[in-house]
Amino acid sequence: MNNFPCVSTVKMSVMKKEKDPIGHAIADYHATGKSARLRVFSPMFDEDEIPVRTLFRPFDEMPAIEQEALKASRGSILDVGAGAGCHSLALQDMGQQVTAIDISPLAVATMRDRGVRDAREQDFFTLDGQFDTILMLMNGIGIVGSLSRMPAFFMQLERLLAPGGQLLCDSSDICYVFEDENGFIDLTGIEGYYGELTYQMQYKTIKGEPFPWLFIDADTLTQQAAAHGFKADIIARGAHYDYLARLIRRPH
Ligand code: SAH
Repeated sequence: MNNFPCVSTVKMSVMKKEKDPIGHAIADYHATGKSARLRVFSPMFDEDEIPVRTLFRPFDEMPAIEQEALKASRGSILDVGAGAGCHSLALQDMGQQVTAIDISPLAVATMRDRGVRDAREQDFFTLDGQFDTILMLMNGIGIVGSLSRMPAFFMQLERLLAPGGQLLCDSSDICYVFEDENGFIDLTGIEGYYGELTYQMQYKTIKGEPFPWLFIDADTLTQQAAAHGFKADIIARGAHYDYLARLIRRPH
């Protein structure tokens, strides 16, 4: 589940409805309990799809690293790229105070209808405010898109984290994609960082714009954090090259 790519923008804006495949899929599933296929294309892979039902997963169906992230959340919480609101709803059930943001207007409307009390159409990169915990789950840090955008990401993190605050994010190391039949991973000859991908989604006839998505491995995230004044701890590992990281400002 942690490999699903999701929608990101490079241009900072809320998405237009006619370009919002994931939002339409979420809205349909919410309204009817079913949906058409949410198709995902990437030059690097065969066509794939996101089972829309998983975007509505309750706490007990979440992967262990997501459950762990929710249990470690405290204070005022920001759920970035909240989708159908599964994590925000679980946190509200736990008595927590959470703000859910998403660039998909249909996802935000669905979240409100499902009972997320503070759901906003908002791009992470232009958000104002202060939070004790920032959550980026289901490979949520992928919205950064590429390593070249890490400085902008850390600048925004610096602005949004309250003193003593934490970022909890999960990601996958997709090195296994480059494994040969002998289990040998060969990353030579790959241009740029191997976790930088481009995706496009389609739901029914609604096709989104292609978008960059970053799968960052734990070592690279740790190095990036250190280079930008943060400290990363890998606090849990999942079953398939996925991990949960906590980032805090590096103590002076
Ligand atoms: N976190 C949810 C949804 C994952 S899909 C879950 O685990 O089920 C990723 C979501 O991120 C999509 O709904 C997409 O619209 C949203 N998104 C992408 N880029 C974003 C950005 N820059 N700011 C806020 N939300 C963004």
